[in-house]
Amino acid sequence: MTATQETNDLGSRRPAQDETSARTQPSVVRPGFRTAAVHAGQEPDPLTGAVIPPIYQTSTFTQDGVETLKSGYEYSRGGNPTRTALETQLAQVENGSHAFAFASGIAAEDALLRSVLRPGNTVVAAAETYGGTHRLLSQLYSRWGVETAFVPPTRTDERDRLLADPSTTVLWVETPTNPLLSIVDLREWAEAAHAAGALLVVDNTFASPALQNPLTWGADVVVHSTTKYIGGHSDVLGGALVVGDAVWEDQPLAEMLQFQQFAGGAVAGPQDAFLTSRGLKTLGVRIRQHCENAQTIAEWLADRNDVERVWYPGLPEHPGHDVAARQMSGFGGVVSLRVRGGEAAARAFAESTEVFGLSVSLGGVESLISHPATMTHGSTKGTPEAPPSDVVRLSVGIEDVEDLQADLDRALAGVL
Ligand SMILES: *Cc1c(COP(=O)(O)O)cnc(C)c1O
Repeated sequence: MTATQETNDLGSRRPAQDETSARTQPSVVRPGFRTAAVHAGQEPDPLTGAVIPPIYQTSTFTQDGVETLKSGYEYSRGGNPTRTALETQLAQVENGSHAFAFASGIAAEDALLRSVLRPGNTVVAAAETYGGTHRLLSQLYSRWGVETAFVPPTRTDERDRLLADPSTTVLWVETPTNPLLSIVDLREWAEAAHAAGALLVVDNTFASPALQNPLTWGADVVVHSTTKYIGGHSDVLGGALVVGDAVWEDQPLAEMLQFQQFAGGAVAGPQDAFLTSRGLKTLGVRIRQHCENAQTIAEWLADRNDVERVWYPGLPEHPGHDVAARQMSGFGGVVSLRVRGGEAAARAFAESTEVFGLSVSLGGVESLISHPATMTHGSTKGTPEAPPSDVVRLSVGIEDVEDLQADLDRALAGVL
């Protein structure tokens, strides 16, 4: 038996068969998102009855014999019960069958890419990817013989031309995108990828599993930076990969990723897994407030003379509004805007709010403001993928919306 088989028996972590097949016959067996977020993988401790599964702060596990494990765990890189609790929760809320938790979103992306790519392969990525994903692909993978072609999300003709090349094996997309909140039709992207024999990977960080489940629309792999909405409190880094039954190179993708997680080692530690699990339980109620506040702010900004343009999928004039309304159950908490006055005004505005903290990252309960061109997307500077330098991004938190409006009002009045 190999170490991965010993430490991570896939069978024991897979939801029961009837639960998996319930995906295709919804409603009766499968719990709703908020129920799954609170309960999946969170059974009380059998020893003490503790309602919350303990944090197993241990590197290793004693065994009953040289080849006999007590309960399937051997060494925490291969598996740890606190991580299993989070992974079970993540798999259920994303309508997947397996999830793998990593030390960060980028670590999850790296594990996935190293698992499925070979030198000579090409990745086709929708151009508005997270800055760190752009850096990973264009500056790191390029050194290992993997090319990445970035295509604007609207240029499906160009995407299909690149997919037709047999070296293209992975199609990568985010929806909504960062920072311009473009929306792609996930079902159509899945069909295009599969027609070309490529994997569709969807970074679902911005929508979160509370608003969108890409596997349901045909994606093969969902990527999360759990640092954002899932953790939700800006107090922990983490990443996740979630898959269903996809097969790649004649192997279940879940097995390939599990091996990669164990062999590559960028796992989520027990404390981080616990905090992420705790955050996920309240995502359902937090996201409602994020969406409500963001909608109010987007509509209010769109009416102002000192604001030139607002990007938010919940606005009817947003080009992706109809697709978003179909594949998402809410429009999310991120709003981007262009103020009058160009880059200088955008930077001054971002530096003058008080309730909105000037910071990269998003998805926490507190509102944040950023200037993507110099902050989150600094690594795309000088490339065609660089975001416009006069755009400001808001991660709208769950505070009282009147206080957020007053803060933005004061900051806009000060710079213009
Ligand atoms: C933050 C982020 C990542 C990277 O995640 P880390 O946890 O920071 O490593 C990837 N994708 C998106 C969309 C993100 O916002």
